[in-house]
Order: sequence, then structure tokens, then C-alpha cells
Amino acid sequence: MSARSDIPSDVHAVFNQSPPFENVDLFGTDRALQEAVAANGAAGAAAELGAFGRRWGEASMFERARQANEHLPRLSTFDPKGRRLDTVEFHPAYHAFMADSVGAGLHASTWRLDGAVAAAPAEVERAARFYMVAQVENGHMCPITMTSAAVAALAAAPGLRAALMPKIVSRGYDPRFRPWPEKSGMTLGMGMTEKQGGTDVRANTTRAMRDGEAYRITGHKWFMSAPMSDAFLVLAQAAGGLTCFLIPRFRPDGSVNALHFQRLKDKLGNRSNASAEVEFDDAYAQRVGGEGEGIRTILAMVQRTRLDCAIASAGMMRAAVARALHHTRHRAVFGKPLAGQPMMRAVLADMALEAEAALALVMRLCRAFDLAKSSPAEAARARLLTPAVKYLVCKAAPALAYEAMECLGGNGYVEEDALARLYREAPVNAIWEGSGNVMCLDVLRAFARDRDAARAVLDELARETRGLPGATETLDTITATLTGDAAEAHARMAVERLARLAAAAALNAGGPAIVAEPFARSRLAQSHGATYGTAALGAAETTMLLSRALPEM
Ligand SMILES: Cc1cc2nc3c(=O)[nH]c(=O)nc-3n(C[C@H](O)[C@H](O)[C@H](O)COP(=O)(O)OP(=O)(O)OC[C@H]3O[C@@H](n4cnc5c(N)ncnc54)[C@H](O)[C@@H]3O)c2cc1C
Repeated sequence: MSARSDIPSDVHAVFNQSPPFENVDLFGTDRALQEAVAANGAAGAAAELGAFGRRWGEASMFERARQANEHLPRLSTFDPKGRRLDTVEFHPAYHAFMADSVGAGLHASTWRLDGAVAAAPAEVERAARFYMVAQVENGHMCPITMTSAAVAALAAAPGLRAALMPKIVSRGYDPRFRPWPEKSGMTLGMGMTEKQGGTDVRANTTRAMRDGEAYRITGHKWFMSAPMSDAFLVLAQAAGGLTCFLIPRFRPDGSVNALHFQRLKDKLGNRSNASAEVEFDDAYAQRVGGEGEGIRTILAMVQRTRLDCAIASAGMMRAAVARALHHTRHRAVFGKPLAGQPMMRAVLADMALEAEAALALVMRLCRAFDLAKSSPAEAARARLLTPAVKYLVCKAAPALAYEAMECLGGNGYVEEDALARLYREAPVNAIWEGSGNVMCLDVLRAFARDRDAARAVLDELARETRGLPGATETLDTITATLTGDAAEAHARMAVERLARLAAAAALNAGGPAIVAEPFARSRLAQSHGATYGTAALGAAETTMLLSRALPEM
């Protein structure tokens, strides 16, 4: 008997494997992104975003991301003679990402030199870039986010902010370990979490003693990421209560400030970024805001880091869907491409729908940030929806990353494939900057503090989702739950629905109703199954969602 003619004689022939997912135009291949950018006032930036997307989708960027996450940051606590160093060494790939992201203004483009917010659509434009970067490398985005968000807290110290802003808005990344006034640009970090509590920062034990115009800080922080930042916003107990401070790496006299790094965390993901345990030993600090106003001051920063968590998670979802689609289009099983098989198509379309909704949701929220200064309605929208959006999108990303990985079968599970790293990265955005339950409590707080404003946001969502399946019932459930006796116990259910309703509204306003309708039907009117592929999507809807999600490549 002769061998089958379709079996290659070369045992090393590689066939039925997808080509590498690289040299991808991250903007041009993402129709939902183009539409969301246009719908939220940034159509004029399309050409620049296109160039950005082509650059970040280059094979060299994906390779650099692999390097930055394989060659981990290394802590140097002491020099060979026992003198303290407290420095962290990063792989050049990490620095290259920092230089690119700072160069593109991701760390400061939403601010003006005077510390005021930049004009719309600065948030939407930045978010589009941030979302594309999140599809490539996530670790370095931590200091990028913190630097950008810290400016909001610095509003409480106008003099200090005026001194820092020229260095913050600079597009020159300067990684040298030097006092910030000597550098061409600077980045900022944040230290709130202590061993005994991260959510409950009122339990902070770090102490601040006044020393003339400045303060001396003594205590510890259990997580302080990006420890090579030039300065950190830190909470500490002063005589007047919990207070926000700026702790620079160097004292004004040029000597190294007393920040002693104990060790770096060995993390599940986010490995290119260093997260340190740190002790302050009489560290020099400047006050930001009044004594006792620490929580209020730092919350201005945290609202923005939460927004970034949601944008980055939406970006990760996009990366996962695109990679799953790409692979299944090139991989045949039982003689037919996977992406042509009915059950796989149902899984892929359901994931594409979830990812597109996440994107529409975060971009509409960025529009609210863009308009908040001039519109109380948009400010109220940003206040109520930021925690809800962070809750839903950051929680959706890990499950979606897992399902995308399974679409690649065994190939998805090995470390050489970017999906494995994405999967390990995905949970962190839900955990830091306020974990899931804390986000729900924050929605309750917003509702309780200004019920009229919150109701106005719900009324607006009602108008924007009129006619969509399940919208009215969802709204009724949200209102009844958030105002009911057991609001806290049922908050997750209400907040998830709130975010889904807002996603339906964003899809309805920005994209073709053909996407909003199946989203509302499968997520508002019906309860979605525990896994992807369980939404009852029609064949035409499935085809439409898959062709929107990624052109054939
Ligand atoms: C990789 C990484 C980097 C980090 N970097 C920084 C950093 O740079 N700076 C910094 O300050 N922190 C940082 N953190 C810390 C992070 O912000 C905290 O871990 C987070 O805020 C949660 O605090 P916690 O770990 O103390 O958990 P806890 O506060 O103990 O909370 C545990 C769980 O309980 C839930 N919970 C809390 N209160 C309630 C309630 N009332 N009702 C119901 N549930 C509740 C929370 O949602 C959470 O799920 C980092 C964390 C990670 C993982």
C-alpha cells in the first residue's frame, strides 16, 4: 500500500499552523476602534492614530514585549561595600517602551503645561493610543498611568504642580537616577497600600512629622510599583489626619532620599513592571493638599487610574479576540477552517461582541472625562460610571483571555505565544486601584451622595437605549436595587447591569444599531451563559460581528 499523497514526506514540514500575528495595523484593522474614535469627537486624529497603530503592531514591538517580560527588573539594595543603592535595573526593552509611550504623550497628553485639563478630545485620543499599546505590552503602562493620573492630585498643591509640570509634560523619557530638577522629563508613582490594608487606607500607619515647610515620613508601603519613578504620591498620618505627600527620590540638597526598597514582588503577570515593598526612614516629603485631606486628594488621581485600568483591559480583550480570530481562520480541523465551524463561530462572535462593547463603553466614558469641565451632566456620568465600567471591563478581560487561549488550543497555552502572557496579566486591572467589591461600593456612594445627579445619568441612559431589548427592565432593576434596603448585598448585580446598560447606550450611539441590538438582547434581555458561545446570535449577526472584528489577513 502506498502512503497518502497529501501527507508531506518531510517530517519537519510545518503546515496547518497560523502565520505569526505581527505587522498588524492595530488601528486600520479595528473598525470598532475607528468608529468609537469618530463617535466620541476624535475623527480628526484618525491619520495620526493610524500611524501609531501601524508602528505598535510591528513584529519588532511584539518581540520587544517578550523581552521586557522575560528579562525581569532586578533590585539592587546595596553596593558591594554595603552602602544603600535602592535602585532597580530594567531590560533595555522596557526603557524602549517607556521612551515610546512618553514620546507619544501617553503619560501627560490630557494635561496642559499649567496643569489644567487639555481640550477635548484629548482623553479620547489618548485612550485610543493607550488601548493599542495595551495590545502589545502592559507592564510599562503602570508608570505611564500613574504619571498622568498624579497631575489630578497635584491640583491640591498649585505651587508644587507649577514646578513639576514642565518635567511631567516633557516628551523626553529620562531614566537616569538623578534629582528630578536635573532631568529632561520625570515620571510619578504612588504609595497607599500597607501590609495591614490596601482598601482601607485609613488604617495606614506611616507617619509624617512636620519639619519647617517640609515633612519627614517614616513607615512602609506593601506595594509601590514603578519604584524608579522620580517621585511618589504617598499617604501618611500627619497631626491633622491622613494626608497626601510627594516623596521625591532625592532631597532638595541632592542627596538620595530615604526610600529603602525591601524586595520586589514576584507577580503572576505584569512582570516587566517592578512592584516594590518599601520603607521610608525619615524620608523628605512635601505636602499635597491640607492635613487630613489625603483621601480626597488622592481620589482625584485614583479616578483616572481606574479609567486607565478599564481602557487597558478593553485593549487586552481586543488583542485576545484578534489573535483567536486570526488563528482559527488559518487552522483547519476535520478539513475545515475552525473559524468556519458553527460552534467556533458562535464562540468567536460572542467574544467579538463583548470586546466591541467594552471598547465602546470605555471610549464613551473618556468622552465624559473630556467634557466634564464644561458639562455637569458629563461630570456626573464620569463620576457614576467610572467605577461601574472598571468593575465590568476589568472583570470581563480574564475570562475572555482564557476563552481566546482555548481557541488556539495547546498553542495558546505555551509561553511563546503572547496569549499566555495576556492571560496572566489580565486579572491585575480588577485587583489594583480598587478591587471589584470596592468599585461597587463606590457606585453606591456616588448614588447616595448625589441621588439627583445619579438619576439624571440613568435617565440619560434610558433615552440612549430606548427601544433596545431589555433596556427598560434593566433600568428598573438597577434603580430598585441601588435604592433598596439590601443595596450593598446586591450591588454586584446592579453595577454589572449598569455597566452593560451604558455599553448598550455607547454602542447605540456610536456604532451601527446592528451591534447594539444583539448586545442588548444577549446581555440585557436574556441572561448570558457562563461561557462564550452561549449568546443566541443569528447567522447573519455572527458573520457581521466576525467581519467587523478583523479583516481577513
Ligand atoms: C501588581 C500590583 C501592583 C500594585 N501597585 C501598587 C502601587 O503602586 N501603589 C499602591 O498603593 N498599591 C499598589 N498595589 C496594591 C493594590 O492597590 C491593593 O492590593 C488593592 O487596593 C487591594 O488592597 P489589599 O490588597 O490590601 O486588599 P484588601 O483591602 O484586604 O481587600 C481584599 C478584598 O476584599 C474586598 N473588600 C474590601 N472592602 C470590602 C467591603 N467593605 N465589602 C466587601 N468586600 C470588600 C476587596 O474588593 C478585595 O477583593 C498593587 C497591587 C498589585 C497586585
